[in-house]
Amino acid sequence: GGSASASTIKQVKLERESELRIEVCNETPLKLRLLNGSAEIFGSELAPEMWLTFPPRLKFAVFTWYGATIEMDGATETDYTADETPMVSYVNVHAVLEGRRNRAKALSPNDSEASQGPRVIVVGPTDSGKSTLSRMLLSWAAKQGWKPTFVDLDIGQGSITVPGCIAATPIELPIDPVEGIPLEMPLVYFYGHTTPSNNVDLYKTLVNELAQMLETQFARNAESRAAGMVINTMGWIEGTGYELLLHAIDTFKANVVLVLGQEKLFSMLKAVAKSKPNVDVVKLQKSGGVVSRNAKYRQKSRGYRIREYFYGLANDLSPHSNIANFSDLLVYRIGGGPQAPRSALPIGADPIANPLRVTPVNIDRDLLHMVLAVSYAKEPDQILSSNVAGFIYITDIDIQRKKITYLAPSAGELPSKYLIMGTLTWLET
Ligand code: ATP
Repeated sequence: GGSASASTIKQVKLERESELRIEVCNETPLKLRLLNGSAEIFGSELAPEMWLTFPPRLKFAVFTWYGATIEMDGATETDYTADETPMVSYVNVHAVLEGRRNRAKALSPNDSEASQGPRVIVVGPTDSGKSTLSRMLLSWAAKQGWKPTFVDLDIGQGSITVPGCIAATPIELPIDPVEGIPLEMPLVYFYGHTTPSNNVDLYKTLVNELAQMLETQFARNAESRAAGMVINTMGWIEGTGYELLLHAIDTFKANVVLVLGQEKLFSMLKAVAKSKPNVDVVKLQKSGGVVSRNAKYRQKSRGYRIREYFYGLANDLSPHSNIANFSDLLVYRIGGGPQAPRSALPIGADPIANPLRVTPVNIDRDLLHMVLAVSYAKEPDQILSSNVAGFIYITDIDIQRKKITYLAPSAGELPSKYLIMGTLTWLET
């Protein structure tokens, strides 16, 4: 461990079935390459001798099945070798899934039940390595030519797009160890908050919408149906969080539930699955390499994620600052606020907040620093059921001139004038 101040080249020899765990320095990137042997990062193989540059703060492991020598150039927060990993049990799960995909592919695509490949859902407490396991399973499948669908239900630390969203995307190639999930054409629904307790009904509604949309796509595409899906979930597993897990298992018709690092959750889900003969619940060990992240770290990484959306991981994108009239943009929010003022209700009745009500928002200073989603809806009553095209960031509100300045990924008109506001904010730094 420890951080080196000078940039130094260092070689590490890895024995078979061991891994080099690295936390990149907070300020500077790290260069790394495979000198000899073979190695992978979360399921994605390293090309020999090619230098890769890892951005500051990234935490990852280089694992080898048969032995490798790794070369590093730069400072790290920590780097150490571990020979105890759960990788063999993870790759065994992959082998079982692979068998199911082959079976699904061999069966007639007309039999939509039998030709459905595995639908895997990964559950567990925060920092149990759910995203990492999802990523390995996807990359191993993609390496063998499948195009599994990745579904990310984690609105806090999702890996497909900005926080506050649930999303899905096909994975056609092993996931790039530096770039992560490719951002081309994901199917995204905007929830607008980073915790599900803000609006549980909305969260469930969007999960239903996403599942339905995928079901429609699978019905037309035998190849992606056979490849199946890998669903990553949130670390909230108590109370409502647990209910939401059950809801996701049912809604996506998951048939493999992988439980990471918690005995209690495993036995609860195992008991539930007794009444569902075609659902397998499997307990898996958490990797000792998973790094715990506190609330402050999570908050920060949400900010980095939003920055990455607009500017790119290596500042390689150029977002465009646009100015619009208040009247050009129609901003809506979902839920919150009573349906009718108390005075308009019968005596004794409580104003009931409708969590799914879509209401227009007056443009004022409150919108400053908000991240809004651009809906594909064509009418306000489609907002709830529509996925989103992308996001804008409000950088200035001029009340006097009724002008709004916002950052968008590109110049030109927005794909729609319907914008959704939640509680997602960002302070550009
Ligand atoms: P969340 O609480 O957000 O749901 P999670 O359970 O999905 O978290 P991961 O995101 O998979 O957990 O892992 C947490 C962090 O640990 C990530 O930064 C990941 O890259 C890192 N990590 C996971 N496995 C290893 C490993 N074997 N060696 C080093 N770092 C690892």
